[in-house]
Amino acid sequence: MDTNSRIFVAGHRGMVGSSLVRALQAHGYWNLVTRTHVELDLTDQHAVDDFFGHEKIDAVLLAAARVGGIMANATQPAQFAYDNLAIETNVIRAAYRAGVARLVFFGSSCIYPRECPQPIRESYLLTAPLEPTNEAYAIAKIAGLKLCEAYNKQYGTHFVSLMPTNLYGPNDNYDLASGHVLPALLRKAHEARVSGARTLTVWGSGRPRREFMHVDDLADATLFLLEHEVDDGVYNVGVGEDLSIRELAERVCEVVGFGGELVFDSSKPDGTPRKLLDVSRLGGLGWHAHVGLGEGLARTYDDFLHSSHAVPAREAAVRA
Ligand code: GDP
Repeated sequence: MDTNSRIFVAGHRGMVGSSLVRALQAHGYWNLVTRTHVELDLTDQHAVDDFFGHEKIDAVLLAAARVGGIMANATQPAQFAYDNLAIETNVIRAAYRAGVARLVFFGSSCIYPRECPQPIRESYLLTAPLEPTNEAYAIAKIAGLKLCEAYNKQYGTHFVSLMPTNLYGPNDNYDLASGHVLPALLRKAHEARVSGARTLTVWGSGRPRREFMHVDDLADATLFLLEHEVDDGVYNVGVGEDLSIRELAERVCEVVGFGGELVFDSSKPDGTPRKLLDVSRLGGLGWHAHVGLGEGLARTYDDFLHSSHAVPAREAAVRA
């Protein structure tokens, strides 16, 4: 890969895709190709074939996906399965047929079995049943990485799969019903502080453990892979340490400046008890995450305050 390569960033408006675009531009890659959902529906096979037939693409970063938090996954399994399967099969096949040299497919740590030894190595894939709340999404992502492996095996392509841990950062989904835990807690803590509430509700028991990585670290890992001759296959990407949801809520409250009490809503699911990734495969090649959780949370709260979701704070500032 060189800086003249024509790179299609699929999903460039999402949290992962927008971070990839920022990182690529910062490293001098100027020949980026992007399409909005309206311009190119990646679930439409003919449209995707047509796009790859007309554009001369050297590399694909497949960051387009239907993603969501535990409740969205649990309540819309058909959409999570169908949309992701359609996007993957269309893009991976079309990329192969167009002779694309490199493709990076993005999955998630939820592809691994629910009861996994920790930290989770890439080799634990398909060794036991999945977590039911996100099984449909996980099956679709497993299909995507297996499709990459199948094309590599049968046709000699060089498609690589990255499995990041729970991500956060700019352009995250701050919708409380469909988003992930970190943006949801940031927003809830912010609104609780602004409105003077005394409590903040955390879903589940607070005991599950999760690992959180700033999305700019994933973009950095992707560039690292593009710029080095790495073996094909699956690579975990994470920071190497986790914390409980209760501890995360406490850290978020500290950053936001909310001093009230945490209340745990046991009617909401806990999901997987723990998912800490073993990141030694990528670490052995020389890549490590850079953004610590303290710095990442502070940066993300700052991004949040400048986003349209932070309206109550602006209104409060105007009134003050
Ligand atoms: P998961 O990693 O796939 O389980 O997805 P999430 O990020 O949605 O949830 C992680 C954990 O945080 C689960 O145990 C949730 O029950 C818990 N959690 C606590 N409060 C919230 C919240 O306000 N929103 C979400 N999405 N999860 C929460």
